[in-house]
Amino acid sequence: MTDFTTGETIQGMLLETCRDDGISRPRVRVLWDQIPSDWRVEFPRKIREEYNLGSRFRADIKVCQKHNKDGTTKGQRYLRADTKSINHIKDFIPSTTVKAVSRKGSADGRTYDYLGQDNHIGLLAKLRDDALTVITESKITQNISTQHSRNEKIKSYVRQRALGICECCLNPAPFISRSGRPYLEVHHVQQLSEGGEDSIYNAVAICPNCHAEVTVGVKANEINQQLLDKLRQIEIT
Ligand SMILES: [Zn+2]
Repeated sequence: MTDFTTGETIQGMLLETCRDDGISRPRVRVLWDQIPSDWRVEFPRKIREEYNLGSRFRADIKVCQKHNKDGTTKGQRYLRADTKSINHIKDFIPSTTVKAVSRKGSADGRTYDYLGQDNHIGLLAKLRDDALTVITESKITQNISTQHSRNEKIKSYVRQRALGICECCLNPAPFISRSGRPYLEVHHVQQLSEGGEDSIYNAVAICPNCHAEVTVGVKANEINQQLLDKLRQIEIT
């Protein structure tokens, strides 16, 4: 565990809005295992209420400590996000549409209702539709810019389908990337250069280890064949 000094600022920390058992109001937690998970994060209430639960932000945070009049420390150390440095990560879509809504008339103004629902299925369906329209588009135009957006739509869908788990070895993604998403690489089972198509029927989200193995490993062909079989089961045409 890294040692932090009171007053120190840690730059560009990845944060996520969340809900804690026993606390009504939405909280923010730090997505970095070097920070003790019980350290509270001071974060503007307006932003916590504005975005769906699970939204991610980057911000500079300061290590703080309250003191008694006699100079002794009071309570646990905590973190404070520098409001001006807070950046919402737009390309990370939480898998829920749950929002914290302050309950009107509650005595302390700290009681919240959570409205909405787990949205993984809905989100996946939308991203799949987007990814599928692209196949039709690609037959019409073939310039570089549409090719790029096509890749992105397919990648977005495939990553959402994987939900942070490697579709090859089934282990969790090895780390969270700077974009706030679990890091998985999108691999075309039949290589594009060998006539494989850029579509959801030919793309998997896998960890860097598996990606290396399916590219240069001695069992590459065998594993790619297994991935193709798996894809045929998941993505019924
Ligand atoms: Zn893997």
